[in-house]
Amino acid sequence: MMILILEKMIEEGNPAFSCSWESARLGKAGFLAHSRLFVLYTVLKPNFWLRSIHMKVLITGGAGFIGSHLAEACLKRGDEVYIIDDLSTGSENNINSFREDERFRGRFFVTIGSIFDHETMLELTGISDVVFHMAAAVGVRYILKNPLESIRINIQGTEKVLELCAKFKKKVLIASSSEVYGKHLHAPLVETDNIIYGPSDKFRWSYAASKLMDEFTALAYFRTKGLKVIVARLFNTVGPRQTGAYGMVIPRFAEQALTHEPLTVYGDGNQTRTFTYVKDVVKALIALMENEETPGEVFNIGGTEEITILELAQKIIRASGSASAIERIPYSEAFEKDFEDMQRRVPGIEKIKTAVGFEPETDLDTILERVIADVKKKKGL
Ligand code: UDP
Repeated sequence: MMILILEKMIEEGNPAFSCSWESARLGKAGFLAHSRLFVLYTVLKPNFWLRSIHMKVLITGGAGFIGSHLAEACLKRGDEVYIIDDLSTGSENNINSFREDERFRGRFFVTIGSIFDHETMLELTGISDVVFHMAAAVGVRYILKNPLESIRINIQGTEKVLELCAKFKKKVLIASSSEVYGKHLHAPLVETDNIIYGPSDKFRWSYAASKLMDEFTALAYFRTKGLKVIVARLFNTVGPRQTGAYGMVIPRFAEQALTHEPLTVYGDGNQTRTFTYVKDVVKALIALMENEETPGEVFNIGGTEEITILELAQKIIRASGSASAIERIPYSEAFEKDFEDMQRRVPGIEKIKTAVGFEPETDLDTILERVIADVKKKKGL
């Protein structure tokens, strides 16, 4: 019983377990009380210490879709969390649900600002133990609309973060993207695969190329400066809080289905994707950060259930009990003329499975159920 109570306290980020320096703040009595609980728990559950190493975590892009889930997970573990976000694609709505949470009082610090603000980044990197660099231009639509800004944020922004992490010797994880692989038709895609891009007048490839430059820069910092840097190639990540505004297919289809609009399938709908639940991705990111063997390496993070976009549309219509039709829209109408889609994108996840035991836990049906519930809630349906 005692173990259950203590486990719950830890999982929920109970302030009593939040950080060891908390007990110091409470004075001698608090310190003694905490020490007894820690000793008792260590005896009963020897792996407790592995789960209770609390850190000061900086998350760039922490008000974004993935960044906000990462911030919440770190807070629940008991970490002290600092986020910086310029709200270009992120939103304060993403952090509002836990910003005022009593359990996280005094451990969650939000800076609305740019990663190009040198003084702020200097301070935030200096006080943190580890850095998750999640800030980036994301979403095909956003990138096609803002090509120059996207390249600048992805390349110069990442270089800036790496430079500061090297200066302060802080371990850092860089969020890269499955876009890096380009237009392969084979599956699964593994980290050592070649990379195939289209010409430079097709701007989708600028995103892939900028993320690839991030990876090269990160690995160069590892090799030349000994910076502990991990590269995570994220495949299509989905879940509550994701917006369809920048093109992401699942929130778009869910919204269309729930408002009985036609679901807009681009091209013939035979292109495939796999989708990973955001909370699974967050677990993988934290596990990569905690592992001592991961720096200097690139890891895929993704789901393995491959589905065509047409089948996905049909599934979402069924799951939401919608009467929506499916409308096929040629790429030339959906995007500008220089658009090229990826026909297939399935990750090989052996490497991350071997390194940290990651495997996605949430299947597509459950993911869709949760996203549909989230869209319903947001729209008051
Ligand atoms: N897609 C679609 N209709 C939409 C949005 C996206 O058919 O309203 C397709 C898109 O062309 C791509 C897939 O869904 O083939 C996934 O798109 P998303 O933008 O979510 O991610 P991507 O994998 O392209 O980065």
